Amino acid sequence: MTRAVDVVVIGGGVAGASLAYFLAERGVTDVLLLERETQPGFHATGRSAAVLSELDPVSTLQELKVRSAAFLRRPPAGFCETPLLEPSGIMILCREPLWGALRQGAPLIEQAGTRMILLSPGEATARVPVLLADRFDGAALLPEDGHIDVHALLWGYLRHARRHGVEQRLGVEVRGVRVENGRATAVVTPDGEIAARWVVNAAGAWAGHVAALASAVPIPLVPHRRTIVVFDLPLDTRAWPMVASDADRLYFAPESGGLKLSPMDEEPMEACDPEPDAVAVARGFERLSRLAPALVPRSLRRQWAGLRTFAPDRVPVVGEDPRVRGFFWLAGQGGCGIETSPIMGQVAADLIVEGRTQRLDAGQLSPARFAE
Ligand SMILES: Cc1cc2nc3c(=O)[nH]c(=O)nc-3n(C[C@H](O)[C@H](O)[C@H](O)COP(=O)(O)OP(=O)(O)OC[C@H]3O[C@@H](n4cnc5c(N)ncnc54)[C@H](O)[C@@H]3O)c2cc1C
Repeated sequence: MTRAVDVVVIGGGVAGASLAYFLAERGVTDVLLLERETQPGFHATGRSAAVLSELDPVSTLQELKVRSAAFLRRPPAGFCETPLLEPSGIMILCREPLWGALRQGAPLIEQAGTRMILLSPGEATARVPVLLADRFDGAALLPEDGHIDVHALLWGYLRHARRHGVEQRLGVEVRGVRVENGRATAVVTPDGEIAARWVVNAAGAWAGHVAALASAVPIPLVPHRRTIVVFDLPLDTRAWPMVASDADRLYFAPESGGLKLSPMDEEPMEACDPEPDAVAVARGFERLSRLAPALVPRSLRRQWAGLRTFAPDRVPVVGEDPRVRGFFWLAGQGGCGIETSPIMGQVAADLIVEGRTQRLDAGQLSPARFAE
């Protein structure tokens, strides 16, 4: 046994980093964060679209986003040198019956703390003139949401945690989890074993594998590939909000003089470092040609893909495993792990330190919901 700590965090993406930060904020600094890659944020965290969009059809996710937005808008003094959030706006195009439902629900959404402006197709195309107005019945504009500086957020978490004494080791893979009498007691790495009171599974797409190492509850977390492309445009897009259309399965946003677009692909696959899906991109451009033909590009500047990992109900899994004591889940963040990282990190830290949280109903996130 080379070492013993209070908490070992497996995974140096935004989930592990946010937990390390909020543990340190609560005075828990005997923490070791282990990341297999040689840099943090190499997988899902470094591949995201970097968006805060507080509107979500899953009510738990909507709550997590709204509860995180305050941190992103007004991070604690000294957390970062530049703003975390650029409120460039999100414009969600809707068709009936969704449009009617959204109009009806608008007062409740505002009451919950999200600023939303309902736009007619004419008002939406005044903001983004390339859109064809007959392709949607209305749009919801979230003027205070927009682009997150993921790099500043991730490094803000890591830097402050480190300053408080949290140790971060890169290039170290956890290959085993020792369990004794129903309790996780250590992790096994090529450098030796590290004993811990808490073993945190923040392994992103590999969370299912890490859980299997501990014989924890077998939650079917499934990674899904998503592709993003960036291309140049002979148009000035700088003042546009991000435009999202579920019906067209597309979103796009200004990106360094051009446009960033996702065909919103969702290919289930094993955990890996995925390649962009050329067929999904081609189909996305077909749909784009019906919504905004002037935007279809001839060539791409850049493209990448990453994995969004979902539990069957699409709600994150946060809490102690009901079968293996001391084994803690912080996984299944799907497509919103960046924008929800402030509240998820705080809730996870509360549960580890106090065994409960006052911030929200932690039961809705608990791994126990899959224990039957
Ligand atoms: C294309 C795309 C667009 C997205 N857009 C958005 C968005 O706009 N807004 C938003 O909020 N979210 C978005 N997401 C989702 C977001 O990126 C993820 O929810 C979030 O990054 C998950 O963070 P994580 O720390 O759990 O996972 P990761 O960032 O993948 O980190 C997990 C880490 O664990 C490490 N690891 C795994 N196994 C081991 C092991 N055995 N030992 C040591 N280390 C290990 C991995 O190397 C990895 O670095 C998007 C995702 C994708 C792919």
